[in-house]
Amino acid sequence: MPEPSDPQPSSIKHIAILGSTGSIGTQALEVIAAHPGEFAVEVLTANGNADLLIQQSLKFHPNAVVITEKSKYQQVKDALLPHDIKVYAGEEALAQVVAMDTLDTVLAAIVGYAGLASTLAAIEAGKQVALANKETLVVAGELVTSLARQKAVNIYPVDSEHSAIFQCLAGEWDNKIEKIYLTASGGPFRGKDKNFINNVTKEQALKHPNWEMGAKITIDSATLMNKGLEVIEARWLFNLKPEQIDVIVHPQSIIHSIVQFVDGSMKAQMGLPDMKLPIQYALGFPKRLPSSFPRFDFLKYPSLTFEKADMENFPCLPLAFEAMKRGGNAPCILNAANEIAVSAFLSDKISFIGIPGLIEKVLAKASFMAKPTYTDYVNSDKESREIAKEYV
Ligand code: NAD
Ligand code: MG
Repeated sequence: MPEPSDPQPSSIKHIAILGSTGSIGTQALEVIAAHPGEFAVEVLTANGNADLLIQQSLKFHPNAVVITEKSKYQQVKDALLPHDIKVYAGEEALAQVVAMDTLDTVLAAIVGYAGLASTLAAIEAGKQVALANKETLVVAGELVTSLARQKAVNIYPVDSEHSAIFQCLAGEWDNKIEKIYLTASGGPFRGKDKNFINNVTKEQALKHPNWEMGAKITIDSATLMNKGLEVIEARWLFNLKPEQIDVIVHPQSIIHSIVQFVDGSMKAQMGLPDMKLPIQYALGFPKRLPSSFPRFDFLKYPSLTFEKADMENFPCLPLAFEAMKRGGNAPCILNAANEIAVSAFLSDKISFIGIPGLIEKVLAKASFMAKPTYTDYVNSDKESREIAKEYV
């Protein structure tokens, strides 16, 4: 029996935010700031934005921070050491901080393949994972989810569609899913013809109608590769067969996704598009925490509409489905080629429609492996990037 004076075990969750300076990272800090009794920030990490990392650290007082770009180490160290905050640099430090004893949950919010190693290290260390970094599951979904099962780690989805599915599944854990529908806004070029798409500029592609996000995912949303990556992400998160996953375009982004059960009943999760809600659900699970986010008003949305995804003008989506069906390292090749293609598009080296063109070439040329190990994924990512760069 605890004595009345004994401290009660803390129910505060100690969180590491990998990628705290990004779109997801900064919104996660807003969620944490709004719930001081629920969460404490233990670790923050950034790639190169030292100024913002310092500012965030002075506000949230983490135990440790990592700046991946080593050239920024001195600046961050000088600013934070006097405040008793440990400062580390380099990619290897990411894998170490996620294993800290004091951590409960790791929010994986680094963008791209760069997030894979630290997410695996968090799972290996038995930390609960709130996953925004969808590329981790695209590249190595089988490996990541089987390690999570082995380590009894839950992966809580942060991606809004997957959070929607997860919320629909609450209380249904033993019931069979027949199918899921991932909703897609269709991006800024929905309904446009081939001629328009052939002439799309970077500025147009960087303007998403419903969501404010990092540059890479914004371009992925314009090409529909984002939905392709999410289909693969859903396959692993919810242990589904490829044919159980469908995409439906829903331009208002109010229904965030739908589960259809074996009795034909469908559950959907709705709300205004705001990433803070899925971030908060993933960090707070199993609790629903109060929020002051704006509420949905039916009368402002008299019609919610649905249409088929345009697979012809947006070839990234069928390419992702194909890679998922092929399995093995095909999604890893797809992801690496896409990362190179998006960055080439953002630096004006290829056109918008050149993105799927490049990915198709890399998929045809890179070595296929049916049962890749972690090292195979690392090599396949490297090989695919090298092949992709030949075409840029
Ligand atoms: P972002 O570009 O805004 O932020 C990325 C973060 O990762 C930054 O903190 C950056 O410093 C860090 N980072 C980048 N490269 C790194 C590297 N090589 N090593 C270490 N750290 C690195 O990206 P974002 O929009 O916040 O997206 C993050 C992830 O969340 C992506 O996988 C994205 O697909 C996913 N996601 C984002 C949204 C959204 O609304 N932004 C929605 C759903 C899913
Ligand atoms: Mg999404």
